[in-house]
Parts: sequence; C-alpha cells; structure tokens
Amino acid sequence: MMTGHCLCKAVDLRLTSHAGGVSACHCAMCRRWSGGATLCLEAPAADVTATGPVQVYRSSHFAERAFCGRCGTHLWIRDDDGDYDLMPGLFDAAAELPLLREIYTDRAFACMAFRGDHPRVPAAEHEAGHNHVEGSA
Ligand SMILES: [Zn+2]
Ligand SMILES: [Zn+2]
Repeated sequence: MMTGHCLCKAVDLRLTSHAGGVSACHCAMCRRWSGGATLCLEAPAADVTATGPVQVYRSSHFAERAFCGRCGTHLWIRDDDGDYDLMPGLFDAAAELPLLREIYTDRAFACMAFRGDHPRVPAAEHEAGHNHVEGSA
C-alpha cells in the first residue's frame, strides 16, 4: 500500500500496486501543465483509490487531467478507461523509485537532462504506437 495526498491534504490517494518506477514526458501539453517535464507513476485503475474534491479537466479527446479542487495540486493523467499516470510527488515513498523511461525527448527543455541509461523515446517513435494530440509540438 502506498499512500499520498495533495498540498492541502483534502485529496487522499491509496495505491495497492504501481509500476515500480516513474516515467517522464516532455510533450507540449505536459510542459504547459507542469511547468516542465511531467513525471508519472503508472498504476492500474483497479488499484487506485482517490477521495476528496477531485476535479477533472478534459485535456484531449482521449484523456483527462485531474487536480485538487481546493489547492490545485496536479493528481493524474488518465487515458479513457486506462491506467492512472499519477504525479509521483504526491507519495513520499516514491522518492526512491527509479526513472524507467522518457518520451518526447526531442521536445525537452534544454534544462531537463535526466541522468541514467533508461530508454529515451523521441516524439515520432512514441506517436507511431500511441494516442497523441495533433500539433502538440
Ligand atoms: Zn488539495
Ligand atoms: Zn505528455
């Protein structure tokens, strides 16, 4: 069990399983939403419990982005009927998790250079196999 919460603690999160590491996305939408790269901790929908004033913004035709309606802390990105991509910073225990991969690496801010030997996937390669937003560059 991994527990977490937003800044104001009105939203409480509980995970009974997760990916065991975080991913980073440098796409234009993630940069705008988070101020830079967005980090995500993936967890199956059935293993995520969220309580509190969760607000959802429909950020594209296939996905939503959730945040606390009281303090604005970002909570997750989720494709329709898909897994949750949660903000790792919500969970104190996520501090020790490794970086598993980066996507949209060719769109990254110059100041965002992550260490390690993880896979680095450029936009065209990622978009060949996944839903994406037209013109997101
Ligand atoms: Zn909050
Ligand atoms: Zn993204």
